[in-house]
Amino acid sequence: LLQLFRPLDMLGWVYRSIRQGLIDMEAMFDLLDTPAEVVDVPGAPTLAVSRGHVRFDDVVFGYEPERQILKGVTIDVPAGTSCAVVGPSGAGKSTLARLLYRFYDPQSGRITIDGQDIAAVQQNSLRAAIGIVPQDTVLFNDTIGYNIGYGREGAGQAEVERAAEGAAIDVFIAALPDRYEAMVGERGLKLSGGEKQRVAIARTLLKNPPVLILDEATSALDSRTEEAIQDTLDRIATSRTTITIAHRLSTIVGADQIVVLDGGRVAERGTHAELLRRGGLYAELWVRQAAERELEQAAE
Ligand code: ATP
Repeated sequence: LLQLFRPLDMLGWVYRSIRQGLIDMEAMFDLLDTPAEVVDVPGAPTLAVSRGHVRFDDVVFGYEPERQILKGVTIDVPAGTSCAVVGPSGAGKSTLARLLYRFYDPQSGRITIDGQDIAAVQQNSLRAAIGIVPQDTVLFNDTIGYNIGYGREGAGQAEVERAAEGAAIDVFIAALPDRYEAMVGERGLKLSGGEKQRVAIARTLLKNPPVLILDEATSALDSRTEEAIQDTLDRIATSRTTITIAHRLSTIVGADQIVVLDGGRVAERGTHAELLRRGGLYAELWVRQAAERELEQAAE
């Protein structure tokens, strides 16, 4: 009976994790060693990324066939630019990120990177090209050095330290008694939300992917930590194609393009200034969040 419970436990964990949003999917696949729902077509070529142009082309998708979550979504993210996806809760923002990572395949339409349909290439090569800084980073019960080095197999200590520096967590680590050998995770040092996010950023810096997905945490960090992390994220996003799943509009004001999803469709798109001028859903969300921000800052 115990043997039966373990997989059930695992399934529960996976389900909760998926519901919470994008957790570190690579970690999840590795931990469970289960095949993803999608399979490579025999003889699939590897993805050849030249510049990292990402395109969602009339994508239709539902987790269950009878309930469509994305109802024909087209988003074009030119190489090296940033695109923020915003919209009400449940609009399908994280679903877009899951499809890009090919956790699932669209029911119709396609997603391409540099013109290649991601459903037609080897999954490993696709996932090697995409870095994710998730909402909630999974830490292994191992050293903090291992947790960063996980970003790229075979990374040396010097590279791990450089990544930690890039993610601005080097000073924190230097102050730990065991430095990079300090144990973290459930059975070690507990890191704060902001510190965990920096570990995820350091991992991503090591991976150095041309395409980046930033899945903003729903739980707010205090505004000073948030600003500091935002600076780091802006830095690592330079010269990469970046898709941000955003909950707080204040973090995406500078995005090259903002896409407003509503009810599984693109309701509006444009820059922050364009969308404010338009006076639609985005402008409405902006006004509401600005009022909330003022209240929060008054409370801090
Ligand atoms: P939020 O801002 O709350 O994170 P979101 O826009 O990112 O929301 P998604 O996580 O993409 O929304 O979810 C879109 C819809 O799909 C929701 O109605 C959600 O309940 C449903 N959904 C998400 N994951 C699954 C799943 N694994 N199985 C079935 N339905 C799911």
